[in-house]
This record gives sequence, C-alpha cells and structure tokens, in this order.
Amino acid sequence: MTSVDPRRAIANLKELRELTADGNGAQRVAWTDTWLRAREWFRAKAADLPLEHHADTAGNHFYTLPGASPATLMIGSHLDSVPNGGWLDGCLGVLAGLEILRGIALQYNGRPPVTVRLADFADEEGARFGRSLLGSSAFAGTHSIAADRQRKDKDGVAMEDALRLCGVEIDRFPEAAAGRANLAAYIELHIEQGPVLESLGLPLGVVLGTKGVERHAITFHGQEAHSGSTPMRVRRDALAAAAKLALEIRSIAGAHPDAVCTMGSVKTFPGIVTAVVGRCETTLDQRDLDAGVLAAMLHQARDASERFAGEEGCTVDWSRIWNIEPVPFHPAMVGMCEDAVRETCGTAHRLPSGPLHDAAEVARAGVPVVMMFVQSLGGMSHNKVEDTREEHLELAVGAFDRLASKVMDWIER
Ligand SMILES: [Zn+2]
Repeated sequence: MTSVDPRRAIANLKELRELTADGNGAQRVAWTDTWLRAREWFRAKAADLPLEHHADTAGNHFYTLPGASPATLMIGSHLDSVPNGGWLDGCLGVLAGLEILRGIALQYNGRPPVTVRLADFADEEGARFGRSLLGSSAFAGTHSIAADRQRKDKDGVAMEDALRLCGVEIDRFPEAAAGRANLAAYIELHIEQGPVLESLGLPLGVVLGTKGVERHAITFHGQEAHSGSTPMRVRRDALAAAAKLALEIRSIAGAHPDAVCTMGSVKTFPGIVTAVVGRCETTLDQRDLDAGVLAAMLHQARDASERFAGEEGCTVDWSRIWNIEPVPFHPAMVGMCEDAVRETCGTAHRLPSGPLHDAAEVARAGVPVVMMFVQSLGGMSHNKVEDTREEHLELAVGAFDRLASKVMDWIER
C-alpha cells in the first residue's frame, strides 16, 4: 500500500465536473469538444508525474510509469460520459488511477518493480454512435470495423468522419491490439450504478464479472376479432398469452440469485379498444453471470411461451435481437480484490455487474481482470443525480490502492 490522498482524487473529480458539466449534468460525450477538453485537462493533471503519455490508433490514451520489469499492471476506465451524465461514471476510475500512480511513483522513487499504466479508453458509452466499449474492444482485438463504419449520429455525421476529426482512422483500429504486449493484469474501479451495495449497507463490492445477455423479440399470433360479438371461450387473444409470459419470467429469474429477466416492450395489434388482440409483439432481456443459467432461462422462457400460446389458441415465434456471453473475472484477482475490500471495510460482498464495462473487453482478450465497485446512492446513474458519499469514495480509493499493491506483488512473483 502506498500513501495516496483520496481527497485529491475527489477534488479532481469536482474540478472535472466544473469544467465539463452544465445544469443538466456531465457532457463529456466521446468525439466532442467537451470530451477533448476533459482529456487535455487530465493530461495536464498527470504532467507532474514521471509518466510517458501515448495514444493508440483507436484513440485510447495511456500514461505509463516504466518499472524494472516490462510486465504491466494496467489501471483503466473512461473519461467520456453519456449526455446529461453523472460526475463519477468512468472518470472515478481514471482519477483514482492517477492517484494510485502518484502513490506508486512516490513509494518506488519513480521506478516500481513492474510497469504500471493508466488507460483512459475512448468512447466507452457509445453515446453518440450507439457503439459501446469502442476503444477497449479495439484494444482487446474484439472489434469489427465493418459493423461500425456505417454508423451515423443523430445529425447524420458518419462515425468514421467524427473520429477522423479527432485524429483517429477507423481502418487502423486493429493496430491497437498490439498495446496488450506485456499486459499482466487489469483492474478497474467503478461506481455500482445499481442499488445492491446500498441495500446491504456496504460501501464497496467485489465484482465477479459482467453478466451475459440474451435479448429476443417474441411475437404471439392470435386472431383479431370484434370485442362485442366474440364470446370469451372462442377467443385467440395474443395479449393473454404474452401477459402470462410476462408473469412467468419472474419465477424463471427468481430461481437464480442474480439473474434478471425483463419484458420491456409490448405492442398490440390492431391496438384498439374494440378488438381482441390478434398480434402481440414483445421483447425479452435475460441476464446472468453463469452461461449455463442463461441458457437454461432462455430454454424455460421458450417452453413457457409455447405452452401459453397453446393455452390461448395462439402461436409464437422468436428472433434473437442480440446476445453476449458472460465474462467472469479472474479467480485469483477476485480473491485479491476481496482481501483489499475486507481489509478496508470489514466485509467483502461479491456481486456480478449487470452493465458492461471496459474491463469486460480486456478480460475477453484473456488478460487477468477484476473490478471493484463503490456504492451508488439510490442506485442512480447515467443522469445528473448520480452520486456516492464522499466517505465512500475515500474508502474506494484506499481499497483500490491496496488492490493495486497486491496485484503488483502477484505479477512480480
Ligand atoms: Zn462507466
């Protein structure tokens, strides 16, 4: 453990908020002037430390403290925000990381036993072009250019052109993967963005990984009929079948402690007060950290939908909208994070992350990864009311510093 000053990290977060927020919240949307200004500000903040700065071909920024060994501990997160975002999402991890680097530089007189590098990944949020984890996926080598070249923002500006204005050529994204050379481990501190830690009365949590997602469109087909003349017993009501499924997914998810299932959209056709619903279009989003649980829940939901369709004289069809596999973090790293959190606040609660993070991309590349969460007040994020108690932020920076020390020792061994 080094002598970090958590108060300085908090003061820097407030300074960044002053610089990049308006009355509606943070405006550090990637590939905009405000984001570039935030990165320039950050670079100046880091200037008094003996760090080497470089950018990769995907627009990720790195600050390196070279060590006796080239084996590298990376600390990362993102400075970009959603429009009208909060003051902590992403930038907490970057500014806490700077504080950790400052402590390590001091402790080892500028030359630690292993190399330590801070990453400010580009465009984690995907707020402007709808592509989350852009920079970290290039770094991880999981990015596909073809899928992103055609993207446009709401004003019709092509992603490719907006990136070029920031000095980034989309065709050179694959070169960013070379940045993983010598990378031995990656750690990230982030706000929880959910209500779990607050409900347990805990400031900090150990993240087990990011949940996998199965997202499907489910359509029930019945028979449109007049609502006055059609007796109840002969109806083929597509909404009735969908409604049964909406209730059933609660027990499907309920059989697993961290699983969630959501039917977030229901559209009825013809959708008028005088007709039995002939077609009902719904969506289902299922998430869990365990790939087996996720697959089982999908199977159960399909079976249930067919059963309910049958009961209501309807048929049902499914089509996949999107899916991503769960990304469990490294067991030894999870253990080190548990120790750091327990030493800081007594209890180390483990929880999966529902949202995706840059850490998930780095982990998909096979790098040992763990994340630490700090409590979010009211579970709120991605808006201006996002907040965390300052005493919890101080604990988080201290615990994250402990984690960095443990991982450096682990890399050295
Ligand atoms: Zn974030």
